[in-house]
Amino acid sequence: MSGIYLDHAATTPVKPEVAEAMRPYLTEEYYNPSSVYQSSQEVRKKIEEIREGIAGAIGAEPEEIYFTSGGTESDNWALNALGRKNGRIPGHIITSSIEHHAIFHTCKRLEQSGIPVTYLPVDKRGRIRINDLKRAIRRNTSLISIMYANNEIGTLQPITEIGMLARTYGIPFHTDAVQACGQVPIDVRKEQIDLLSASAHKFGGPKGVGFLYARKGIPLRSLLEGGGQERGLRAGTENVPGIVGMGKALELAVQTMEERRKRETFLRDYMIQRITEEIPFTRLNGHRWYRLPNNINVAFRFINSESLLIMLDMEHIWASGGSACNSSSTAPSHVIEALGVPGEYKNGVLRLTLGEENTLEEADHAVDVLKIVIEELRKESPEYEDYQKQEKTPDEDGTLK
Ligand code: PLP
Repeated sequence: MSGIYLDHAATTPVKPEVAEAMRPYLTEEYYNPSSVYQSSQEVRKKIEEIREGIAGAIGAEPEEIYFTSGGTESDNWALNALGRKNGRIPGHIITSSIEHHAIFHTCKRLEQSGIPVTYLPVDKRGRIRINDLKRAIRRNTSLISIMYANNEIGTLQPITEIGMLARTYGIPFHTDAVQACGQVPIDVRKEQIDLLSASAHKFGGPKGVGFLYARKGIPLRSLLEGGGQERGLRAGTENVPGIVGMGKALELAVQTMEERRKRETFLRDYMIQRITEEIPFTRLNGHRWYRLPNNINVAFRFINSESLLIMLDMEHIWASGGSACNSSSTAPSHVIEALGVPGEYKNGVLRLTLGEENTLEEADHAVDVLKIVIEELRKESPEYEDYQKQEKTPDEDGTLK
């Protein structure tokens, strides 16, 4: 079905070149890369070639890249492997209050098993404060895990400052870069990142495959029992077509990054401007500048996100209210709560995330439809009616409020 897809933070379309690169590994090159014969060894070579390409894209060494089933596994791995100092003694973890559930829920589980976790607050634009981080460091802090870019509001964190601080204290620094990888330039050496999670389906690759970068010397521990794949640290036959697709997708994402950044930033700012100027009672969530090029997150007063998304869907505009995994819940997300979005705006959050196929015409059409839909929904809102009545009620001195 054709429509305007504005939900690229949930997932991205697989590029034709990516599907084409994967195809032979789903058909004639189906061999298990761990077997001894020549054909298998060719597949092994391809995987190692991809590992090299991925490492190069983020400034890492090939032996620092571990293939996983995606962002969730990479996040779980980093936290579970390092949440305990020396593998045994419960350490202390520092994270932020706006992490994806793959981090947030894992931290909650670790807390239940006796590992203390500090959840750093964020400012009203969604950035942590370096001083808060400094103050939170304890003698037994075993990991700092702060996301690169937020999946709901697109806010970018001060990654280099965090990396420098973590390195000074000798604490491993993990970042969930699932939303950032392929969107913004990443250099793990310059930014002093020790562990990084990424997921192929957020940058034009297939679903169910990702990677964890772990700097040499980081005491990574295997969480799965099984074969000796990934240098004995991640058991299980490699998802060869997925890995090949991820490699191709990241290669293309890096090649086109600068051009996409310019285009998407322009469209993003254009849409933000139109929405906030042309629709009354609207606020932008997240940071104005430290923001992913493709993220728009706005909140509308007198609007319920769920009804808004349904109405937009009827007009073939596909967007999101918060994170994809929150879409069945009507409560404001923990990210929106952490930002301190005022109560009247909390239930009317809309996330629009752009991709390279979106055009200016689509952006204009989406905003035009949004304006009409918001107006219609507000007409049916009892709160809006009450508000308007109040506004029209003359004060005792006869003036309008
Ligand atoms: N971390 C962030 C910031 C995400 O946005 C997502 C997915 O939305 C994940 C982790 C989970 O990634 P995956 O879907 O590959 O498991």
